[in-house]
Amino acid sequence: MNKIYGIDLGTTNSCISVLKEGRPHTIPVDGNGIVPSVVSLDGTNLLVGRKALNRAAAFPEQSIRSVKRLMGTTEKLTLGNKTYEPEDISAMILRYLCDEARKIEGHEVENVVITVPAYFSDAQRRATMEAGKRAGLTVERIINEPTAAALFYDHVLASDGDSQQVLSSKAGEHYALVYDLGGGTFDVSVLRMGEIIEVLASTGDTHLGGDDFDKRIVTRLLQEIKEKENVDLEDYVPALARLNAVAERAKIALSEKASVRVEETRIPTPKGKSCTVSMEFSREDFEAMTEDFVARTVASVEKAMEEAQLTPDKIGKVLLVGGMTRMPAVAARLEEIFGGARMPVVDPDLSVSNGASIQGGIISGENCEQILVDVTPHTLSLESITYDFRQLECSPIIPRNTQIPVTRARTFSTVYHHQRAAELRVYQGESLFPKENTLIGETSLELAPAEAHCPILVEYSYDLNGIVHMVAEQKGYSRKTELRIDSRNPQLFSSQGLEKIQEDEEEETEESPNAVNFVTQRARNLLSKMEPGAKKDALTQSLARYEEALMDDEDALDEVEDELLALIEAETSEREQEEQEED
Ligand code: ADP
Ligand code: MG
Repeated sequence: MNKIYGIDLGTTNSCISVLKEGRPHTIPVDGNGIVPSVVSLDGTNLLVGRKALNRAAAFPEQSIRSVKRLMGTTEKLTLGNKTYEPEDISAMILRYLCDEARKIEGHEVENVVITVPAYFSDAQRRATMEAGKRAGLTVERIINEPTAAALFYDHVLASDGDSQQVLSSKAGEHYALVYDLGGGTFDVSVLRMGEIIEVLASTGDTHLGGDDFDKRIVTRLLQEIKEKENVDLEDYVPALARLNAVAERAKIALSEKASVRVEETRIPTPKGKSCTVSMEFSREDFEAMTEDFVARTVASVEKAMEEAQLTPDKIGKVLLVGGMTRMPAVAARLEEIFGGARMPVVDPDLSVSNGASIQGGIISGENCEQILVDVTPHTLSLESITYDFRQLECSPIIPRNTQIPVTRARTFSTVYHHQRAAELRVYQGESLFPKENTLIGETSLELAPAEAHCPILVEYSYDLNGIVHMVAEQKGYSRKTELRIDSRNPQLFSSQGLEKIQEDEEEETEESPNAVNFVTQRARNLLSKMEPGAKKDALTQSLARYEEALMDDEDALDEVEDELLALIEAETSEREQEEQEED
């Protein structure tokens, strides 16, 4: 079997590693192996990596950075006179890493494991796989970055003979927290470490990272330029690109030094003249300016701890991942929380790709001891109607943080006699209310005529790449539909089939309180509570028209349903108002 390479496809930087004689090695692409995730157009030449980054400061409009933030969206990007999808740009970065690795290694690099933030949605994961495909690679697996980092740390500690010590110091309880603050994303995970690495919880923020820290310095520089030079560069892209680069350098310097002076001449302005800025920043200033960002990460840390149902004293070690964790305030803040825990010093930039290469080794059957247990990052649910037919809610099928791969089923039921179809909407997210979650796919199951309360079995599977498949089946009536969710546009699904299957006598699963379609039932429910009168008559007649249309007048169905729903809504809200007044 081919070697499987591990790739950390980062927002800011990417890395490629491979296992050699059981040990991960970072391939020194671009010198030190930390490859800027930047693409830049130079004439007709596309540059990637450090060369692209160098060009990007001078030609920001011909360069693309942080494309990872756009993965899973349909946004289009322009370089020269061509437009690209985010997957194309990521593919260029992947292709560059593999081509350069091939030159260094002397053989083809085709099979890869790519990492993504644990918080990435299915659409983002699928987009990442697609990028691999467009780069001509075989993506063996998508794994979570914190999990990869933990694999690597565990490996390093084990080979230092250190894990024994950690184990004994915590009397057999051995939990780790992975804190990953990179250029554009923040991830935190709680892991149970041992022979098996198990992710107990993971959460984070897909829009928080080093770029945000840089922007705070840029804002100060812009203010200073406005005051001293009387030019407003807030919207002037060439100047902003220059200032961003300056700000990042200042930030990095402040990780080592107590203060830094920013001196920048020849900052371009829209009128063609250049301007200068000179400003002193102390580490204290910078920490005060960015305190809220660190506080946001701490809130996520607390959330992850709560989800894992652990207190800080149970954490044996805190793993710092991502370039931003070199900022001393970050480690200091974590030390306050996890005083007793150890923070092993391992290069925070390389641990993810090195861990991915260990995962690659596990897949290709190399001798690696660790086994990985991964979890679902979001709850996957089906939209249904509550018992009182009053509102739609999300009924979880696979809860967040369930170990994957996983297949779970739940039985729903139809509401009325001869119901014609069940609308199936797949949601991702933690809220009970569909509106607050993300709709990732929808389809409908055409039903065979049956009594009300006919069971519909809905099964979700979540695979190791974090991809969802749904199968829904009208039990005992040979009706079934499947759902595939389009990677870049999860609202559109690709396959929806109605097929004959064997009648089966599977045991009944517990029936859920939820039903899949509801209009008739809601109307009946209301009618049973209404006093006789004109309004009740109107609703009765509307319901009759609706049921008639359901049976044999499909053309009129929409209109009749709208009319019935309007009456239902009006009556429901009137009743709610009366109830409130009584209270
Ligand atoms: P990503 O995973 O998003 O690609 P990285 O882990 O490579 O990101 O981290 C990149 C971020 O780390 C950038 O914002 C960079 O400025 C920041 N960074 C790198 N080195 C340091 C340092 N010594 N001190 C503070 N920040 C740093
Ligand atoms: Mg990273």
